[in-house]
Amino acid sequence: MSKIIDGKAVSAYLRQEIKNEVEKLILDHNVQPGLAVILVGTDPASTVYVRNKHKACEATGIRSVSIELPATVSEDEVLLKIDELNRDDTIHGILVQLPLPKHIDEKKVINAISPAKDVDAFHPENVGRIMTGDYKFLPCTPAGIISLLDYYKVEIEGKSCVIIGRSNIVGKPMAHLLLERNGTVTVAHSRTKDLKATASQADILVVAIGKPELINSEYVKEGAVVIDVGINRKSDGRLVGDVDFESVKDKVSLITPVPGGVGPMTITTLLRNTLMSAKTSLNKA
Ligand code: NDP
Repeated sequence: MSKIIDGKAVSAYLRQEIKNEVEKLILDHNVQPGLAVILVGTDPASTVYVRNKHKACEATGIRSVSIELPATVSEDEVLLKIDELNRDDTIHGILVQLPLPKHIDEKKVINAISPAKDVDAFHPENVGRIMTGDYKFLPCTPAGIISLLDYYKVEIEGKSCVIIGRSNIVGKPMAHLLLERNGTVTVAHSRTKDLKATASQADILVVAIGKPELINSEYVKEGAVVIDVGINRKSDGRLVGDVDFESVKDKVSLITPVPGGVGPMTITTLLRNTLMSAKTSLNKA
């Protein structure tokens, strides 16, 4: 079997399942899942992410509504828009593409999204639910990684899992999901004293730091499974991860490439969360 974890192929498989479920939901209940994506400003990376989410929705039959606001929009106007979407029964998921311009308080905006429509799972209520294992939505990137590990039948229970990076959107929730699957979890970060020693104990190493190709073979144990979350654009235009793929590829048992590894899975979880939210809305009707 190839060592390369094919996130595109796994995504395609899971998205077909989602598409079938969306079709059934429309047929049986006349409910089409709807996702609203708010983009503030014209940041090129954010614009690409939003476009990819829109395309993925279209391909699976999910209705996607793009709300593009100028970078000068006031915080109140963004909050007003969210309030409107919270009350719109045809919208089951609301996502605000981050980062936001400096004059808008990100926390305030995230807190304004109804937890029932918070398909990114960033709202404090959903974060708390992840901590206690009683969640509605799973955070997109970490849940996408768990799906990849499951697809490739990587055993998590009892394994040494090291996550490098402790952000609220990747590192911390990743730690909880691996813990929930009975992994023995270590979270490393920029203040970790001996990162090489810590990382090279990992059976499963998840890297989410945002530093191009920092993690080379010296950080990786022979036979480890390496999940590279990083997306970095080099000066020559190439996209690379946080892991030096060429340096580690002969040492690992499995590795995600960049692009084509974790990235597609993040969007797949978003689609799954939107579908789930639409299904849950049936019980409220
Ligand atoms: P953040 O910048 O929020 O967090 C980075 C983390 O890495 C911090 O915890 C930081 O430590 C740690 N870190 C930074 N430098 C080092 C270092 N030299 N050694 C050890 N730890 C370090 O990033 P995100 O979690 O949001 O994203 C990480 C990467 O993943 C980015 O490249 C991003 O683009 C990508 N990403 C990809 C996604 C996908 O779908 N594939 C989704 C989300 C993100 P400290 O806390 O001490 O500062």
